[in-house]
Amino acid sequence: MFKNNRNNNFNEAMLSVDDALNRVLKNINKLDSELVSIIDSLDRVLSENIFSHVNVPYANNSAMDGYAVKANNLKTASSLTPIKLKVIDSIKAGDAPKSKLEDFTVIRIMTGSAIPEGADAVLPFEYTKEEIFDSEKNISYVTIIEKVLSGDYIRLSGKDVKEGEKVLNEGTVLRPPEIGLLASIGINKVNVIRKPIVSILSTGDELIEPGEAYSEYMTYDSNTSLIVASVLKCGGTPRVLGLARDDIQSVNEKLSLASGSDLLITTAGVSKGDYDIVKDVLSEKGSIDFWSVNMKPGKPLAFGNLDLGEGKLIPHLGLPGNPVSASVTFEQFGRNIIMKMLGKELSKNIINAVLDEPIYNLEGKRTYFRVIIEIKEGVYRAKLTGDQSSNLLTSLVNANGLAICPENIQKKDIGDTIEVQMLY
Ligand code: AMP
Ligand code: MG
Repeated sequence: MFKNNRNNNFNEAMLSVDDALNRVLKNINKLDSELVSIIDSLDRVLSENIFSHVNVPYANNSAMDGYAVKANNLKTASSLTPIKLKVIDSIKAGDAPKSKLEDFTVIRIMTGSAIPEGADAVLPFEYTKEEIFDSEKNISYVTIIEKVLSGDYIRLSGKDVKEGEKVLNEGTVLRPPEIGLLASIGINKVNVIRKPIVSILSTGDELIEPGEAYSEYMTYDSNTSLIVASVLKCGGTPRVLGLARDDIQSVNEKLSLASGSDLLITTAGVSKGDYDIVKDVLSEKGSIDFWSVNMKPGKPLAFGNLDLGEGKLIPHLGLPGNPVSASVTFEQFGRNIIMKMLGKELSKNIINAVLDEPIYNLEGKRTYFRVIIEIKEGVYRAKLTGDQSSNLLTSLVNANGLAICPENIQKKDIGDTIEVQMLY
């Protein structure tokens, strides 16, 4: 779909956010998989079905600390008619039962211990009086003041997981319980979709690195750090290419560091004034489609392919330079690219909120307003974080959501409902 736009023949038609996203995602594939330790598998997507080779629990075992008993020996036991039985053995968790339970005897047993042959119930300590040791006979007796029924307090083998059973499906996102389950069936490594390596390049003659002494008229590069953090948040592995100046050689030099990555994200150099640098370099080293997306903030957006050499193309997303625009467009495009590479559902995270102040949208664009969402009397309420200029990063810092005003709506009043994409 990408033309080599050597003649500056860019497709500048204004695309809707949805159409632009569809065009981007058509070029994105799920990545291949890798074997990782379950300790490193949180939030990863399984790329195999998981079957169990064991029963969990392994054997019938006790749900309580108490005594393994034959239930029909205790039929008459009560606090008024207690019965006294001989304790013939004791089993702790992990032990193989040594003795077989004979009639009118009990075996002391701890939670998780295997049920000995001959027993059909566990009598909790709470249903007994203390055990008495007869030192002359070298025997202990326990007094039983309440009965149990056959099967009581026994956890059956295979109740949680049966040997041979499929326990997790390919495509499952691993949360803490799934990781615990894998461990419970003895699995310590799983195949999951690889994390995309995302190369990040900020461009601009005016940029200096945080940590450097400030020099007049320069701007600290906030986009690199912001996009690194955003990539981490979605489960990608960021790789910082550094700062490129607004010249072809500098951009080229930095792009040579992108080899082995799965996605390139650049910021700046895509607005009308100076997008030529990113365009020139990328149209030589692959192909680029430059779009105006009908959204605010973030109208200019570049998408294409970077040729890493030897025919390996990776997608390139060129975000606008203003930090708020870079962040808002990342959340619509970059996040979904990474989600698709990871084999995950696309991210929506939308709630409905009631506006606490009016909003105006006179340019016919889909507009993302930075808002603070609070719950008042059980209802989400939205209010703006103030001035919505796209260079004001503090207006995003103060926000926890982006209220989305559709392109065809010019005004929403106090009390109107609006969709809000919750952030981070
Ligand atoms: P541009 O897209 O290059 O025209 O940049 C638009 C605005 O974003 C300018 O004010 C730039 O100084 C600013 N900008 C571009 N890149 C960055 C960056 N990495 N960090 C902070 N501001 C930036
Ligand atoms: Mg610039």
